[in-house]
Amino acid sequence: MKSSTKRILLVEDDHGIRRELLQSLGSDSYSVQACCTSKDAQESLENGDYDLVLLDLGLPDGDGIEICKWLRAAGNTTPIIIITARDAVESRIEGLNAGADDYVVKPFQIGEVIARMQSVLRRASGTTLSGRIALGDLWADSEARKSGRTDREFQLKPREFDLLFFLLQNPGRAWTREQLLARVWGPDFEGDGRTVDLHVRRLRQKIEDDASDPRFIETVWGIGYRMSDSPLTGEHAKEGSEAVSES
Ligand code: CA
Repeated sequence: MKSSTKRILLVEDDHGIRRELLQSLGSDSYSVQACCTSKDAQESLENGDYDLVLLDLGLPDGDGIEICKWLRAAGNTTPIIIITARDAVESRIEGLNAGADDYVVKPFQIGEVIARMQSVLRRASGTTLSGRIALGDLWADSEARKSGRTDREFQLKPREFDLLFFLLQNPGRAWTREQLLARVWGPDFEGDGRTVDLHVRRLRQKIEDDASDPRFIETVWGIGYRMSDSPLTGEHAKEGSEAVSES
């Protein structure tokens, strides 16, 4: 990622959250402009140039999802992270499918927001990973098209490898089944979410210690899947219990 200051548009009508984000991000060398209505957000996006948009979904004069759709329909690819209430699983999935790059759930830790922002900005700057990627003892090599854990090499079918490598490029990020289909299988593939489920099931059998208790490829209830960003620390146990209470 370039070291220059990143320009952030923060769209959030909750005064407390807005102030907290402005303070934290400002002191973390981001240049943040804030607005609190859908109308102001659209005006800012029409007139300004931003590296990233933090977008609340529940705005007094509209729905943040409409801003996502509007921006993408205009061909604007500025990364968007949506900020959403924890019970609104459907708006999260709708937001991702409307073109948002990621989401954070209220109430959130500032550290989590910053980690998501860094990850999205890194991807947007074109620093996609190729070659060999490792996560814990799991590794994959896109040039040799080989993967494994420590010295044990997996026997993956081509699409299983593609899915694994794609997920490994974005640890911690949740994807909907539609997004995985579009990005791993390609926009012309005529399949549905069950194709993704089937491949995830097969991958887990090959890469996980216990496919019924996956540490790497986590199910994000109501959304889809994500590669854990801390597969070996037991973090998933916390996520798991949260997911159960949410389902
Ligand atoms: Ca709101």
